[in-house]
Amino acid sequence: MERIAILDGYVDEPTVLGVPPYVSIYPRYVAGAIWAQSSKIQIHYRTIDQVRTSFENAQREWSKMDLLILIAGMIVPGKYVGGTPISIREARTLFSSPILEDIPKVLVGPWGNFGCGIEGGKIALSSDVLVPPFDYVVKGDAEVVFSQIFDHSIGLESADMGATRESAAEIEEFIVKGSRIVAQHPGYHTNHIICEIETYRGCPRFLTGGCSFCIEPSYGIPQQRTVKSIAAEIESLYELGVRAFRLGHQADLFSYGSKEIGEEEFPTPNANAIEDLFSTIRQIAPELDVLHIDNVNPGTIAHHPTESKQVAKAIMKYHTPGDVAAFGVESTDPEVVKKNNLKGSVDEMIEAVRILNEVGGTREPRGLPHLLPGINLLYGLPGESKKTLEHNMNFLRQILDEGLIVRRINIRQVIGLEGTMLGKTSGKGIKRNQFFKHRQEIRDTVDSEMIRRVAPAGTILHSVFLDAVEGNHMLLRQLGTYPLLCHMPLVGDNQIPHDVFVVDHGPRSLTVLPYPFKPKEASMAQWKTIPGIGGKRAVRLKAAKTLESLSDVSTVLDMEIPDWLEQSFSFEN
Ligand code: SF4
Repeated sequence: MERIAILDGYVDEPTVLGVPPYVSIYPRYVAGAIWAQSSKIQIHYRTIDQVRTSFENAQREWSKMDLLILIAGMIVPGKYVGGTPISIREARTLFSSPILEDIPKVLVGPWGNFGCGIEGGKIALSSDVLVPPFDYVVKGDAEVVFSQIFDHSIGLESADMGATRESAAEIEEFIVKGSRIVAQHPGYHTNHIICEIETYRGCPRFLTGGCSFCIEPSYGIPQQRTVKSIAAEIESLYELGVRAFRLGHQADLFSYGSKEIGEEEFPTPNANAIEDLFSTIRQIAPELDVLHIDNVNPGTIAHHPTESKQVAKAIMKYHTPGDVAAFGVESTDPEVVKKNNLKGSVDEMIEAVRILNEVGGTREPRGLPHLLPGINLLYGLPGESKKTLEHNMNFLRQILDEGLIVRRINIRQVIGLEGTMLGKTSGKGIKRNQFFKHRQEIRDTVDSEMIRRVAPAGTILHSVFLDAVEGNHMLLRQLGTYPLLCHMPLVGDNQIPHDVFVVDHGPRSLTVLPYPFKPKEASMAQWKTIPGIGGKRAVRLKAAKTLESLSDVSTVLDMEIPDWLEQSFSFEN
């Protein structure tokens, strides 16, 4: 086989995100496993959003290939700004074309491993629904399976689709060799790309079975990658020009390097190991733009507060601000916690939020907080009742009342996956309409206040990218973990700002303007977005003959200008 096509239909698992601008581990690992056998094999990599412009063109291109690979699967489906994951119908349509009939097709990713999760609150469909058009479904580790497929002594027919890695060391060569696939990603040439990096696989809580709904414990004892291996991967991506990384592929970053992994359910964090990891990354990628993290077990912080504070401080020495430690709280209802073997009690969860606020809540002047907790809540679990909603609401109210900050609250409905203890018995204790009402209450009362605390007016967000245009607004976001969604009045393509500052807040988004803000060049729409400056003042400003200084603006406005706005003005030409 000489020419291979990979279609990235995007993935979202608890520990891997692969919706643009994120590039998941899958295309990199799969390409690396193939190139490890022969670097001359041509791999054509496309994303589903690229292919949607014309299925026919994609099929015509694929008809010249020797093998077609689809990477896809949402285990925790959500709404995405950066791309739209492939649907089952699209996968069937794309790969069922008669001109592709004779070309072998392989399905890879969570759809293959765990079934096709369609939406929260429903049981995942078996991956058999995609056979045909797919001839092979990878149930094991994609990179291991592809190293067999491209091994001349084994081949496609004889490869074990369930093969898994024995240790992380086995795949390190693939990881480095596969880096160059990112050069084919649509975001590569504009630097609008962030690579998800694996530090370890599996969950230390496998010892007690882990959380009922989760697939991580099924991997057994966690396989940790060494600092040297992670650094080699980042170095290879950095040399290609990638400047944004998230250490997101692990159950709990705070446990990385702990000597108690495999012995304790909540291993004692090892701040030296974290310091070594982050400082090494900074040495080999000194000009990186983003270094963020993702999953952290709040139970680890509650069990080991002193060591966890040391770990947070070590991360903050080397990461980039605006970072989020996603806490998988899932539920604070004691009945649900017990029935699903969740990470801890409500008091422990609150304590973890307090600790991370204490250490990570610091910020540079006008910057975002360094490292805040995010909260994941999950519904549809066994043991739920109407009381679950009250427990969770009380938990969030306590966080609000104590003046704490959480960066974002993720509210999802569980998908019953094969291979988890949850299986096909998700909870039925909360009616759909109760769930939606509860979610709206959180959005209205908690989110709207939190976003003001996270990014008060005047906060500067550096290096934003245009994600989409909606009517007369642009949607901008930074690269990074859980980026804040920014609305800005439409400007021309050549006027998209590099930096913006916050002028107002929606329930879950920010209204921003270019930073620095040049009164002489500002449009009516821009002036009107600033609270207190209505249509009439905006007209006066646009009609003003001179706006050369703060006092000119002040005179026209005839109102007190808040400090944060004054500090955002620039009167330079
Ligand atoms: S703590 Fe629970 S949710 Fe997190 S990785 Fe382990 S089993 Fe999964």
